[in-house]
Amino acid sequence: MKEELDPFKIAQQQLDDAAEIMKLDKTAHALLREPMRTVTVNFPAKMRDGTVKTFTGFRVLYNNARGPGKGGIRFHPEEKLDTVKALSAWMTWKCSLANIPFGGAKGGVICDPKSMNAVELENVSRGFIRAVSSFVGPYIDVPAPDVYTNSQVMAWMLDEYEKIYRKNEPSFITGKPVELGGSEGRFDSTALGGMYVLREAAKLLKLDLKKCKIAIQGFGNAGEFAFKIATELAGAKVVAISDSRGGVYSEKGLDFDKLAQAKEKTGSVQGFEKAEKITNEELLQMDVDVLIPAALENQITAANADKVRAKLVLELANGPVTPEADKILFERKILDMPDFLVNSGGVIVSYFEWAQDRAGYFWSEQEVNQKLEKVVTKSFADMVKTQKKYGESGRRIPPRMGAYIVALERVAYAMKLRGWY
Ligand code: GLU
Repeated sequence: MKEELDPFKIAQQQLDDAAEIMKLDKTAHALLREPMRTVTVNFPAKMRDGTVKTFTGFRVLYNNARGPGKGGIRFHPEEKLDTVKALSAWMTWKCSLANIPFGGAKGGVICDPKSMNAVELENVSRGFIRAVSSFVGPYIDVPAPDVYTNSQVMAWMLDEYEKIYRKNEPSFITGKPVELGGSEGRFDSTALGGMYVLREAAKLLKLDLKKCKIAIQGFGNAGEFAFKIATELAGAKVVAISDSRGGVYSEKGLDFDKLAQAKEKTGSVQGFEKAEKITNEELLQMDVDVLIPAALENQITAANADKVRAKLVLELANGPVTPEADKILFERKILDMPDFLVNSGGVIVSYFEWAQDRAGYFWSEQEVNQKLEKVVTKSFADMVKTQKKYGESGRRIPPRMGAYIVALERVAYAMKLRGWY
């Protein structure tokens, strides 16, 4: 039988598995199986040659029982509504596990940012916000960056929103430049949060990070900073890294600055000549202690999970491990830290940004990082405690299920308090 790779079906499968373990109320379960609101928009944007192209975008509000929707906007040529729906569900569990006052949402535009110039990117960013403007807002649904969007894109989106509503409204969107009401520490917060999880998970496995070999799939915002932090702060050795074109490997460990320079010059980490070239598939199967998938969904599947050699998998991307692969990793006693814990640092600092914007009072980077560490460490402890609780009553469950149960209990309780069931 071919494995299910539709991200939304996967998200529903994970929810169903957790609901069965925790015996979630059936009405709450049914409410949580589908997004509350799905918006598809088609909008015009002017291209560099003067022609006007029609773009399709989505904004999905999965659940807002615990607060306004929250989640990034992706620009991707292969973007699909089902992917955005899955990501909005994962945002709901992410915000709930972190115990921040948001529901979950996600957006996406079908476009190829790599082939667009700055003017085209700006026109698409503004056009999308015009199209979804009545569905987003600081108390409705708060966007942020995600795959192939960044703080500049957030700045254009903020400007467009403020033009429409004719007022200053920085808490409408997060991940903005600091100069426009962004938060200190937001830029590398996803990776930093992931590194706090790495530290806690290493304690569980009694791994000495200074002796650890790490492989990272992906050299986007999260992957790049994970590399930097893992080597500079944790003293670990990153021996393999890749991007969409392929990867490089060096037994001695890769040098961050030299690698970043090569990427800058050639457009790919493969431009780094002092290391052996490898494929993305080979990277996942390297003989390392820690494997960090930091790129896209569905990377570790039923087809390759039995070839993973790491002791610890840290899901910095959203949805990199399929449910079938989950089972295989669990049976093989490979500790797999779930995405909505590992990459929660981004949205946690987004919450700090939203709170600072609303208060009009800004914190130092050190304050932000200290608060982030507290929240992530607490989420980790909540997950492990729940896992243990089920283990003691005779049902051993993987970390992902522990995290799901914590998140679902909170969302279901908020819905109950509101009288939704
Ligand atoms: N895109 C990030 C995520 O998937 C951040 C979302 C946010 O800050 O709202 O968690």
